[in-house]
Formats: sequence, structure tokens, C-alpha cells
Amino acid sequence: MKTVVLIIGANGQLGSVLTESLKQKFGNSNVIASDLRSREGYEGSFEIIDATDINRIEEVVVQYKVTQIYHLAAILSAKGEETPLRTWDINMQTLFNVLEVSRKHNIDRVFFPSSIAVFGEGAPLENTPNNAYLDPATVYGISKAAGENWAQYYFLRYGLDVRSIRYPGVIGYQSLPGGGTTDYAVDIYHKAVLEQDFNCFLKENATLPMIFMEDAIRATIELMDAPKEDIHTRTSYNIAGISFSPAEVVTEIRKLYPDFKVRYEPDFRQEIAARWPNSIDDSAAAKDWGWKPKYDLKLITTTMIQKLKEKYRKGSKNQAALML
Ligand code: NAD
Repeated sequence: MKTVVLIIGANGQLGSVLTESLKQKFGNSNVIASDLRSREGYEGSFEIIDATDINRIEEVVVQYKVTQIYHLAAILSAKGEETPLRTWDINMQTLFNVLEVSRKHNIDRVFFPSSIAVFGEGAPLENTPNNAYLDPATVYGISKAAGENWAQYYFLRYGLDVRSIRYPGVIGYQSLPGGGTTDYAVDIYHKAVLEQDFNCFLKENATLPMIFMEDAIRATIELMDAPKEDIHTRTSYNIAGISFSPAEVVTEIRKLYPDFKVRYEPDFRQEIAARWPNSIDDSAAAKDWGWKPKYDLKLITTTMIQKLKEKYRKGSKNQAALML
């Protein structure tokens, strides 16, 4: 059977990079990117989909004979706190719509990203296990914890092959983050390369699990490629990249930019971060589908700085600066 992939939320931090990897894997004509708005200069099939509209998802699935759906659309942790009930509605309604269309049209595989935001004070802070108690304190985390259970429900009840990863904070040079609690770890590199001071909204010792974009994308594709019988976790898999605090990133950056200045001005996002794990136990993902991260903080830092310098040199400086 030919694989035809639909990505919902394809313009976001992860979606824009994942779309390119899936195009390389399956061929341009077999990947349909979609989001609320079109993307300027996008090469390939693009459809406007508001995923709260089930009919629109169904229309595109039928039109392109879609066999896999990557459902990335969501309102993230920090942004979500501005309008909690709206966040719940959007995160849940879009997931229900994807699950229902997938069930009705026998979609082969569905990807639903969860997050370390599912954990709260009831989970151990260090090496948090896959099956830790989930008592998230943000509406985003609540929606992801519920979503994981719905993913498992559709698998158990209807045999729908939904797969999920709890991403840590994702760091990449390709795109900008969309309102999460770990966004500082992308912004800080932009500021370093632009030789500007950085105001950090977390405390200097706020250690959080993070992952480099390349690792996050590879994990997603490896999970989706794994044989069905190897997937034993149907809620969501923990995956670890590396854990670090703002102070540790600053130390790495100063090896390249010794004059880099940072002010710590913790805001409400520090409260969110304080309830999330410091580090993650990803042994279930390692055992079931061979997960292993490649990027440590040193490699992330040298790669981020090199790639961002190239980007700014090529003239995207104004555009990128505007987005910060
Ligand atoms: P993002 O905010 O950058 O992108 C989300 C995209 O979804 C945006 O392009 C937005 O326009 C789109 N969207 C929002 N509402 C929509 C709707 N109703 N219909 C269609 N599209 C809609 O997010 P991201 O960082 O790319 O995250 C992708 C997924 O990964 C999300 O589900 C997020 O919860 C999860 N995740 C991300 C991180 C991270 O660090 N980036 C960490 C953990 C989990």
C-alpha cells in the first residue's frame, strides 16, 4: 500500500521540519502539509485545514487517499494558560476529529505528540518513569494526559494504530517555538548570535528535559516505522534527549561568546517548569523501538550557533529578529 501522509499543524516549530523529513522519506507528492494558514514559498501539496472542523479533515483525507496522519496542532503550555477553556476545546476537539476520521477511513497509522507537561508534583523529579502518576497543573498538560488515554482507547476499542511520544522541550535552528515553557532554550541562541543580551524567564537552575530537533524528528519517524507488535505503550512513550538548566546553556554559549550577558527574570513559566521533571527515564522507548538520542548540550550549542550564524548571514536576520 502506498503511504500518503497528512500533517496537521505543519507550519509550527516541529511541523515545518518534520514535513521536510517526511517529504524526503515518502516523496513530495505523498506528503500533504496543512495548517490554519498557507505557508509562503512552500513547495508541495498544502491544504488549509482548521482541525476543529471534522468535515474539512475528512475532505482532505478522501481527496488524497491519506494513509497516515501526524496531528501536531495544539495550543502549547505557556500560551494555553492565557485561555484555559479555549485551549482545552482546541486541543481535545482537534484530537477527537483526527481519531474519528482515522477510524472511519481506516487510516493505517496516526501520530499524536504528547509532552513532559503531563507530569506534575505526583511524579518523581529525577528519571521520571513512563508510568509515573500524572497530575499536570497546566491546561495543556491536562489535555495531553487526556489525549494519551484517548489514543490508547481508540487502539483498544477500534484497533486504530495511534502512536505517541512525550516530547521534552525541542531546540532547533530551523523554526521558532510557538508558546511553550522551554522556548527560552531556542531564543537564547538567537540572542547570542545576534550579540544581544538575553532576559531569561526561568531561574538559572531550572533544569528541564530537552531534545535537539534532529533527535526529535528521528524519534518520531523511528516510532512510526516500528513494527506494530513492538509498540507496547499505547498511551505515550517518554523520550529523553538531555537535561540542562539555563545556567548550563549560558556556560556553553560563553565558550564561544565570552561576553554574552543574561538577566534572570522568572515569570509564570517558572511555576510551570518547577512542576516538570528534571530528567526522564526513556527505557521503554529504548527497549521497544531502539530509541537513543545523539545530541548532547555541547553538540547542540555548536550546531545551533553555526546554523544560526549561517541563517543570519544569508539575510533572514530581519525576519528572524522580528519573530523573537
Ligand atoms: P507550534 O505552536 O509551533 O505549532 C502548532 C501549529 O498548529 C501551528 O502552526 C498552528 O497554526 C497550528 N494550529 C493551531 N490550531 C490549529 C487548528 N485548530 N487547526 C490546524 N492547525 C492548528 O507547536 P510545535 O512546537 O510545533 O508542537 C507540535 C506538537 O508537538 C504539539 O502538539 C505540541 O504540543 C507538541 N510538543 C511540542 C514541544 C516543543 O517543545 N515544541 C514539546 C512537547 C510537545
